[in-house]
Amino acid sequence: AQPSHRRPGPRSAEWFARAAKTIPGGVNSPVRAFNGVGGTPAFIDHARGAYIYDVDGNEYVDYVGSFGPMILGHADPAVVEAVQKQAAKGLSFGAPTGLETELAELVCSMVDSIESVRMVNSGTEAAMTALRLARGHTGRNKVIKFAGNYHGHVDALLVNAGSGALTLGIPGSPGVPEAVVADTLVATYNDLDSVAEAFKAHGDDIACIMVEPVAGNMNCVPPVPGFLEGLRDLCDQYGALLVFDEVMTGFRVHPGCAQAHFGVRPDVTALGKIVGGGMPVGAVGGPRDVMETLAPTGPVYQAGTLSGHPLGMAAGIATLSQLRDGSVHKAIAPQLDKLLAGLNERAQKHGIGFLTQRVGAMFGMFFTDAEQVSRFDDVAACDTEAFGRFFHTMLDNGVYLAPSAFEAAFISHAHDDTAIERTLDAADIAFATLAHP
Ligand code: PMP
Repeated sequence: AQPSHRRPGPRSAEWFARAAKTIPGGVNSPVRAFNGVGGTPAFIDHARGAYIYDVDGNEYVDYVGSFGPMILGHADPAVVEAVQKQAAKGLSFGAPTGLETELAELVCSMVDSIESVRMVNSGTEAAMTALRLARGHTGRNKVIKFAGNYHGHVDALLVNAGSGALTLGIPGSPGVPEAVVADTLVATYNDLDSVAEAFKAHGDDIACIMVEPVAGNMNCVPPVPGFLEGLRDLCDQYGALLVFDEVMTGFRVHPGCAQAHFGVRPDVTALGKIVGGGMPVGAVGGPRDVMETLAPTGPVYQAGTLSGHPLGMAAGIATLSQLRDGSVHKAIAPQLDKLLAGLNERAQKHGIGFLTQRVGAMFGMFFTDAEQVSRFDDVAACDTEAFGRFFHTMLDNGVYLAPSAFEAAFISHAHDDTAIERTLDAADIAFATLAHP
């Protein structure tokens, strides 16, 4: 029987029913609909620091952080003030502003491989632009991506692969023509052999590898030692570009992004989430000669009415300037230590097979007896039903996790000891409930 949940409450349910009449599924991004875990989503009224508040007045410790951007915590005073000040000067001009250069300079100063950067409006756009740029720059067509990696809903990258198999062009959604994914090769994350195989078969026509340096859309799966280095070597050997999709990892796992954390230099980097400080911003960056392949300096077309939006730039500047010296990441690390140690201890106490993985300020929770999860198949083998029950008990007890066993979790600078203790108290109940349903 479905347990009855205390949270969210009746007002969220009312809003959800009303939303479903004019919005497909009641949401503007699918995972928000609680499809993976069942139940009614919480409708949010406001958020501050480590907490979000729903329309029924429930308070939750938040580990979604708007799916990544809110590394400083919600409603960070400096970010909010920067946006308010900018809004008073007008919302958008369709002409250059100094703010765009200020954010570009910050990005270039923080990310070693980036000398030049083009702002866009989402992570999807960043990945789409990175792919077109790689193809245009190399004059080649094929792209290698990994099963279980997500790069936004870009047609050519929205490819469903039989897990493990090197598959050629199977559209991952109706509406994506086969022709559009005919040049998409799907390899296995953390399996260099599968990548080498693709290069052996198609080396002369591979424009780029597109990879999440830490896989964050199949829970949280770090690269095994040598994996990213091996991708770099293969790209160099075959004259392909290495594209890191750092939309999620960028400025989260390290102030210099995952490339600094792991010491592997990509040719092109896609950014999103934190770079816009909670506003809709994405970015593509790389060496100047590669970036100047883009219009207006080069022939590869890319544009945007609202790109480099003043409010997004203001939020991004106010966010990155706080992350730059590394003190925020340094402060987050021991908090995440406490959280994960506490979760593992409570899971063990209740005899629940449970594993955590982390890189920087992102982490994953797995319901499994395995000691490590490094392949998509390992993730798929975890107990998603247990996650669903854990999710709802946590929610009932005031902890907001991503409503899917395949999302990474995010901690912020605002998660103090009180927030961590509240999380662990809820987890104690949630693990106990799993042990004795
Ligand atoms: N790339 C990665 C690695 C992502 O995690 C996401 C979104 N979660 C995207 C691209 C797409 O970004 P957006 O949702 O802003 O379009």
